[in-house]
Amino acid sequence: MNNKKIRVAIIGLGRLGAIHAKNVAEQNNDFDLIAVCAAEEQLKWAKTQLGISATYTDYRKMIDEEQLDAVFIVGPTALHPEMTIYALNAGLHVFCEKPLGVDLQSVNEMVQTIHSHPKQIFQSGFMRRFDSSYLYAKKMVENGEIGKIIYIRGYGIDPLSGIESFTKFATASDSGGIFLDMNIHDIDLVRWFTGHEPVRTWALANNIAAPELEKINEYETGVAQLEMDDGVIATLVGGRHAAHGYQVELEIMGSNGWIRIGEHPEKNLVTLFTNKGVVRPVVQDFVERFSQAFIDEIKAFAANIKNKTQPEATVEDGLKALKIAKACQKSVDTNQIVDIKL
Ligand code: NAD
Repeated sequence: MNNKKIRVAIIGLGRLGAIHAKNVAEQNNDFDLIAVCAAEEQLKWAKTQLGISATYTDYRKMIDEEQLDAVFIVGPTALHPEMTIYALNAGLHVFCEKPLGVDLQSVNEMVQTIHSHPKQIFQSGFMRRFDSSYLYAKKMVENGEIGKIIYIRGYGIDPLSGIESFTKFATASDSGGIFLDMNIHDIDLVRWFTGHEPVRTWALANNIAAPELEKINEYETGVAQLEMDDGVIATLVGGRHAAHGYQVELEIMGSNGWIRIGEHPEKNLVTLFTNKGVVRPVVQDFVERFSQAFIDEIKAFAANIKNKTQPEATVEDGLKALKIAKACQKSVDTNQIVDIKL
């Protein structure tokens, strides 16, 4: 395997799958993108833009017919477990987007299958762990530069301009709810930065900014308070109403200083001076904000396959993040404080 290219395929060519496909095809010499699987209308794009001739609408057929080493799973969240199980049983390494799934029973089956294939790499899409700002902040925290963590707050708020496409998506498939869909990365970051687990949550949600979501049983904004096992307090804020763009922010308050990452989600170093005022353009979506992290995480996947090393973020991290998101949702649904059992 060491000098040979890794033969990969991608399942899903939607908002994120197309980015991964481009990155795999153009940014990484370790991979050979052999085949893709998605809805018929998206396959043409892969043929014309990426020159992929092996295109499928049935992922099982693709895995059975192509001689693959690995697969990227970027299909709908609810299908991640069955796709992962099928790929692992076919002997492939798997990169699977977050979250692991929607329903805990199928995710548990997925986790068991991952454990029963210890020689195959399983990597989940926690790409924020590859983002240079988070990595920089993590070093600062580890070096004690802000003292002991007291409080941590994660914002995951999509642009208002995306509300229509979200409504279509959530009408067609199960998003898993505001905390699973929007805050799973923040939950992972809270655990990653603090090194501790949450034990209880109290969460609230509303639809003031998007009353139409009521009809499809979704919330536009959700806020969860988490009590960590060492007394640290965490807040998660998920939403889809940011008028200015994509607000993904993390604040870590320490006993001797604070860190804020993405407080102003600036696009670049440009400041615009016009008769409207002094303006800093901001990033508009996850693609823009995490473009380099998406490249770095697939490079790490290739390195993990070549070096036979499992990634730092394990499937247990994915499972715990899922359980925490579900506990937050349960707190909203039951209007109760919910104990978190991981
Ligand atoms: P999307 O709806 O835009 O795309 C889904 C893709 O899956 C489409 O290409 C569709 O044709 C394909 N698909 C649907 N059913 C299929 C099936 N049965 N077999 C094969 N392909 C099938 O979705 P998206 O926004 O790209 O999200 C995909 C996944 O990526 C989700 O799990 C989502 O949570 C995750 N995601 C992660 C991040 C991140 O920050 N890491 C960002 C966006 C999305």
